[in-house]
Amino acid sequence: MEISFAGKRALVTGAGKGIGRATALALARCGAKVVAVTRTQADLNSLVQECASITPVCVDLADWEATEAALQDVGPIDLLVNNAGCAILKPFLEVTPDQFDQLFNVNVKAVLHVSQILARGMKARGSGGSIVNVSSQASQCAVRDHAVYCATKGALDMLTKVMALELGPYKIRVNSVNPTVVMTDMGRLGWSDPKKAQTMMSRIPLGQFAEVDDVVNSILFLLSDKSNMTNGVTLPVDGGFLAC
Ligand code: NDP
Repeated sequence: MEISFAGKRALVTGAGKGIGRATALALARCGAKVVAVTRTQADLNSLVQECASITPVCVDLADWEATEAALQDVGPIDLLVNNAGCAILKPFLEVTPDQFDQLFNVNVKAVLHVSQILARGMKARGSGGSIVNVSSQASQCAVRDHAVYCATKGALDMLTKVMALELGPYKIRVNSVNPTVVMTDMGRLGWSDPKKAQTMMSRIPLGQFAEVDDVVNSILFLLSDKSNMTNGVTLPVDGGFLAC
């Protein structure tokens, strides 16, 4: 299946590393003009070195005002990937208010905010759009030491559905991908211990973690017109983990 984003403008958050970086590069390869948003300038420098057509924007998405200012001049965007996310792993009884706020600010509030800013433009132009939120299998299944992370991704799944409901009439589709473990920096944080990794893997019918490209390919499909009638879904990229 050939997917082309020629003539489209895309914005990817958390594009400095991992899934977001690979998504930004894949979108550019498929012909999109890409705006890459992240908070570490060095990652943006190396990304632009790798792909000169990418426009870098450096901002901490947890900062509402700074995000507003950083995104005001990005121009019209047709495709949005809300990928930036963070994880702090703690036993439930040890979670602090700060950690709760930090995770909800990035994993949920920033998704609402960035989507509001860009969807207003999509609505005004009347040209529709497609938004993909990067959620997790942890939105639908309890994972030890992931209390707040699981809660943020559960909230994100419902945000995806309400956005699909309210933005659908403007031909803006909103879906999420819900990956299992991917061995990025974030994946290594939780799953470097071989015993833990083996326990998780044994619950995945395909018997393996996801590769970055597995997630990227599902994101590209949901962004593209190949999924024109798909709206409000949370698509597992989990080798069957959530099915059992
Ligand atoms: P990485 O940690 O590899 O990359 C995350 C990227 O997001 C980094 O570039 C990071 O920048 C950026 N980012 C984080 N917080 C902010 C912020 N406040 N403002 C701007 N940018 C920010 O993570 P992954 O690629 O693994 O994760 C991407 C998404 O996939 C996340 O939403 C995650 O929850 C989800 N996911 C990941 C899984 C996994 O096992 N890896 C499994 C399921 C879902 P910096 O490094 O500078 O902080």
